[in-house]
Amino acid sequence: MVVGYGKKIRQAVRDVNRKAWKKYKCPSCSRTSVKRVANGVWQCRKCSTKFASGAFEFRG
Ligand SMILES: [Zn+2]
Repeated sequence: MVVGYGKKIRQAVRDVNRKAWKKYKCPSCSRTSVKRVANGVWQCRKCSTKFASGAFEFRG
């Protein structure tokens, strides 16, 4: 059914957004302050270290 398909897509989009906007633990200072600043670029708000990682999910 068309309705069920659309629901699945929306769930996937929500999941990606949640991962993209959530804060991640900084491998450098161990504080949960790493946020996405650009596609594949993440930065720690505490120690300002920048990381290149996944476009929508941080992998420290
Ligand atoms: Zn840090």
